[in-house]
Amino acid sequence: MTMENPAKPLHGRVAVVTGASSGIGEASAEHLAALGAKIAVLARRAERLDDLVARIEKNGGTAMAFAADVTDSAAVQRAADQVEAELGGADLLFNNAGVMLPAPIEELRTDQWRQQIDVNVTGLMNVIGAFTPQLVRTAGERGVADLINTSSIGAQNIFPNFAVYSGTKAYVTHLSRHLRVELGPKNVRVAAIEPGIVGTELQGHVTDDGALEWLAGSKETIEWLTPEDIAETVGFIATLPPRVNLQQVVVMPTGQPS
Ligand code: NDP
Repeated sequence: MTMENPAKPLHGRVAVVTGASSGIGEASAEHLAALGAKIAVLARRAERLDDLVARIEKNGGTAMAFAADVTDSAAVQRAADQVEAELGGADLLFNNAGVMLPAPIEELRTDQWRQQIDVNVTGLMNVIGAFTPQLVRTAGERGVADLINTSSIGAQNIFPNFAVYSGTKAYVTHLSRHLRVELGPKNVRVAAIEPGIVGTELQGHVTDDGALEWLAGSKETIEWLTPEDIAETVGFIATLPPRVNLQQVVVMPTGQPS
């Protein structure tokens, strides 16, 4: 495939991107499409997905939108069934939907704990459950498939008041390590990307004053990453020779100390 058209190294591949209505997912969907993959994008905001699909198609790509909540396992499975039927099955899953709601633990924001666990852990698993059979099958047929999960630097470092979010991301990283061992022998590469701060809508959902202040200070002193920086990383992982599996990739803003 790569030999046929070096400008489109993902030609012939089918990529699913969750959390594609903004930020990292949106930029990655566009980048993977530019590299030649057919794209299925999933998030809750249908209009944003429709705009994205229109942009990809305008640039000569192929894309489909699925307005679905990742916490709804039946809706995710319906999307997977349609990807199988219409695009021939996914061989690249960028499992990226997520939410970050920091707050001191003593405030007992159990609603926000639940939302983060539901989306970042249960939602991530719903997507893995729906698409892993396709990844395994297509890897067998096409020689390689990719499962790329979005974790965070929070999976490694300690950020006060980010305990629940960081806990969900530690889950994502450790899960990815385990899945790599299970799926690697079946030609499915598994990677966890752990970004530092990326300027997206993620920070816009934060309600805690202390965290908002910390983020505002950081924005003044550090040049944050852009969603495109992470999209490039996703594209790099997916275009490596099939024998190469980048297991865990930390992408930090140069000026972010930890
Ligand atoms: P955005 O808020 O811009 O994007 C989050 C995406 O997730 C949106 O497309 C949103 O779509 C989707 N999403 C949220 N909840 C659900 C849900 N229940 N069902 C389906 N989709 C959902 O933030 P980012 O692009 O920054 O976030 C992408 C990933 O990157 C997340 O996992 C985040 O934790 C991680 N990350 C981000 C960092 C940063 O600094 N920005 C750093 C490290 C990791 P919609 O609302 O339409 O459903």
